[in-house]
Amino acid sequence: MAANMTGPLVMRIVAASVAVSNRASQIIRNVMDRGDLGIVDKGKNDLQTEADRSAQRCIVASLHKQFPKVAIYGEEQLDPTEKTPAEFIELGFSEEVLKHECPKFLQDVTDDQIVIWVDPLDGTAEYTQGFLDHVTVLIGVAVNGHAVGGVINQPFYNYQDKEKVMGRCIWGVCQVGAFGFTREILPEDKLILTTSRSHSNRMVTEAIEALNPTEVMRVGGAGHKVLLLIEGKVHAYIFATKGCKKWDTCAPEAILHAVGGTLTDMFGITMSYGPRVQRLNAGGVLATTSNHQHFVERVPEHVLENLEKSESPDPLPDGICLRGDFKSCSGEVREQQIGQTEEEPVSSPKGSESPSSDTGVARENHDTKL
Ligand code: AMP
Ligand code: MG
Ligand code: MG
Repeated sequence: MAANMTGPLVMRIVAASVAVSNRASQIIRNVMDRGDLGIVDKGKNDLQTEADRSAQRCIVASLHKQFPKVAIYGEEQLDPTEKTPAEFIELGFSEEVLKHECPKFLQDVTDDQIVIWVDPLDGTAEYTQGFLDHVTVLIGVAVNGHAVGGVINQPFYNYQDKEKVMGRCIWGVCQVGAFGFTREILPEDKLILTTSRSHSNRMVTEAIEALNPTEVMRVGGAGHKVLLLIEGKVHAYIFATKGCKKWDTCAPEAILHAVGGTLTDMFGITMSYGPRVQRLNAGGVLATTSNHQHFVERVPEHVLENLEKSESPDPLPDGICLRGDFKSCSGEVREQQIGQTEEEPVSSPKGSESPSSDTGVARENHDTKL
């Protein structure tokens, strides 16, 4: 099957990632069905389960087999001597992706310019607590440090409705578009924000309060929160603390940008996804579908003082801008500090943020205390 796949490399990787993410989602559902999650705490409030481990083995081994020269960074640190079961290897691809024309600036990209960022299971805390629709599989494709393509697979989509097919796959490529979901019209008389339900803290809450929202949706997973954005259910995703990593944001950023939205750190700076970049998103995460600069300007100074500006990728040739908020993008001043880099290709960042005191209110109104 893989031999049939032709076309520019970036499109082939996204096409393969769709099939691989479907296989990983099946593995995640199977682990839940068996019931023994094999939970390990990697740090403070940073869980890993058998589903995280098996899904990563599936994704990394499958993509490596098809694209052996492309760098792949997965969240989980796994025993390299342990063999990946043959049934985990998925060599299929999405013909639908390959029907789309590759944007010009991506047509001649070569293996050495690409990094694939893999979060095999985003929203692990929620997976263990039964908030199953918060769980996603994230595969992001970065070219020269720019998030340009990706897949967000939601294994338990529709899990409460037995009549419907469970699971869905959303994919996108910048300048092509994003597919696999429908968009609602956002109410203009409200301001609905989304943020973490299991890793919140005072800074997160203060950045949200400064915006005076009518409603706050506290849900799990970076992938799930960006799905809420692209489906038109929230105006912005605000996470004004460290803790999120590059594998959490690469695929969501690419898909959001593909539909005209914007994902940056809390300073409004575009993040790099190059091979040597710091894994931790030390500048926090701010994602919107419009008016990005408006949100950036309302982040309190004392909140920014607890964050670090992100390293940005070099600009793309010919002034190509992938961010939805074109004006602020072209006017961006690259004065940020360069973050600490790590030598090892696959590693989890140390010094994660403190865990949350938030115990799981999924939705809040403006009148209730944040
Ligand atoms: P959340 O919105 O809390 O689901 O976080 C989005 C992603 O960032 C998930 O993959 C979390 O595991 C990760 N994350 C956020 N904050 C932390 C933290 N303090 N420690 C470890 N992981 C975190
Ligand atoms: Mg994650
Ligand atoms: Mg994960």
